[in-house]
Amino acid sequence: MYYPTADLPSPQTFPTAGGGGGMAAGEGHVKKYYRKAEHRIFVNRSMHLENIKFYGFDMDYTIAEYKSPQYEQLGFDLVKERLVSLGYPAEIRQFEYDPSFPVRGLWFDSLYGNLLKVDAYGNILVCVHGFEFLKHHQVYELYPNKFLQLDESRVYVLNTLFNLPETYLFACLVDFFTHSPQYAEQVDRTGVKYGELFMSFKSIFQDVRGAVDWVHIYGDLKKKTLENLDEYVKKDERLPMVLSRIRESGAKLFLLTNSDYMFTDRIMTFLFDFPHGGKPDEPHRDWKTYFDTIVVDARKPLFFGEGTILRQVDTSTGALKVGTHMGPLQANQVYSGGSCDVFTKLIGAKGKDVLYIGDHIFGDILKSKKIRGWRTFLIVPELVQELHVWTDKCQLFAQLQQLDVRLGDLYKNLDSSAKEKPDIRSVRTAIRDVTHKMDLAYGMMGSLFRSGSRQTFFAGQVVRYADLYAATILNLMYYPFSYMFRAPAMLLPHESTVAHEQRFTLDAPMIQRTRPPRAELQLSAAAAAPPPHELDDEEEGAEGDADARGDESKEVGRLLLGTPQPSSLPSATGSELSVSVPHTRPETPRSVTHTHDEDYSDEDSDDQKRTKGGEARGAGDGPASAQA
Ligand SMILES: [Mg+2]
Repeated sequence: MYYPTADLPSPQTFPTAGGGGGMAAGEGHVKKYYRKAEHRIFVNRSMHLENIKFYGFDMDYTIAEYKSPQYEQLGFDLVKERLVSLGYPAEIRQFEYDPSFPVRGLWFDSLYGNLLKVDAYGNILVCVHGFEFLKHHQVYELYPNKFLQLDESRVYVLNTLFNLPETYLFACLVDFFTHSPQYAEQVDRTGVKYGELFMSFKSIFQDVRGAVDWVHIYGDLKKKTLENLDEYVKKDERLPMVLSRIRESGAKLFLLTNSDYMFTDRIMTFLFDFPHGGKPDEPHRDWKTYFDTIVVDARKPLFFGEGTILRQVDTSTGALKVGTHMGPLQANQVYSGGSCDVFTKLIGAKGKDVLYIGDHIFGDILKSKKIRGWRTFLIVPELVQELHVWTDKCQLFAQLQQLDVRLGDLYKNLDSSAKEKPDIRSVRTAIRDVTHKMDLAYGMMGSLFRSGSRQTFFAGQVVRYADLYAATILNLMYYPFSYMFRAPAMLLPHESTVAHEQRFTLDAPMIQRTRPPRAELQLSAAAAAPPPHELDDEEEGAEGDADARGDESKEVGRLLLGTPQPSSLPSATGSELSVSVPHTRPETPRSVTHTHDEDYSDEDSDDQKRTKGGEARGAGDGPASAQA
């Protein structure tokens, strides 16, 4: 077998409750990871692959990964040429693409011409004007509270890998115009003046955006890509295999791409161009045979809303057939446009049956999840580099932890009575230095997911909208299609820094909030031994005798409700009560009433109940049969 499936004999182990201090990693608390980090699929929300009936794929940067940095370099050069042809100074041709500068997910503030790295809420983490990184106080001058609202008339989010060349070009142009002697920066800092001519950063932004779109739609980007596929597109012989294995598992596959048919066909033909087919001993077959449904020109995110007209593509000419296609959708045919509404009806899919795999956090992932309830799988090619730094620079993470320990030590014997002030300056400076080194290890703008200890806007969207994420779709190769993906617990600071084993003594008595399940109580009642934690001492003493003489069923009822009977109620004294409250207290649930696993359906839990009940009845005297 030359495609390994389980590739790590000795598993890597990590404490399940990660990070934080003092989490004891005893044998019972260790989660084992059997797949290499680069082969893993990461989980934000649990998902049982068995429940997925349709696997949908985006093409660009999902099935077809463009090679970095040569593909960005190509885009960068073509956009520069376009801008020069529009009248931009010829000097800008001298700019060379620097792959260490841009990172995906930055915001471009077209008012001040700044690239911003922000957290999930819009708090500014990094601000760069041209090539100049702004200092703390400079950021405050432009952005009150170091915060910016995501206002689409002002801010453009550079969401995709296709945006990397323009991210860098914005920086180049802003630097050029603010530093060239013939241009003067406008007093309100919204642009530059050239003689009597005013160029706002907003107009530069619009010109660049327009040039990028032009290069993609009318320019030479596609032509040059297709002329040099080996140079620009990654090819992997595992692709036909992973797709055919999905189908063997019983699921259906569809392709849903914004690219047009001619481009899609050329790219996909290249990607499937191997002597073998779905298995090493099977002959080659056409890429279209790997999918049940193929849709091009999808116009996502529009597709997930109103969509466009669904048409059939004539695959010999690439031309669209006249009129709306009314279905059914046939295998080996190619369709153009349409809407998710029509599409899912035609293929017969419900929201959670579909796992959609794409690289565009907004167009592929956020929209399909928010509007259609699809399960989502985000492809983040940068994860290869991110994980490399994460593991390679482990000494920096260790240093940061040591500095945290040193900081804690400086305060360890001090409380509110302390008059002396420990000198923390050197530790603080050291923390800042290490954080800066960590950031730079990822690139000039730092990591895609974080800046120091804080997470980026992109990371926030990934956590919120992508159920799964991985560096490549090929990682599906390393999991069985019966796999249950379990999300790790997201620990809050009070959970991640306090170990379960640590004894926590209360200063003040706490209300007893834990209630045993009903069955337990019933058994206790039958054994005439009231659970001690349900009755406090005082009431037990006062009422104990009365209970012993009283109606036994009343006692069982009381225990079933899990509440001690109040010794006296001013308005409701025994039989004089005319209107009784149907439930004086909520009943303790008999079984699981809520589930945190999105894939867990009511049918599943009913099945389990039936089975368990059946077994219990068979056994004769289980808790379940006692209740039946
Ligand atoms: Mg894409």
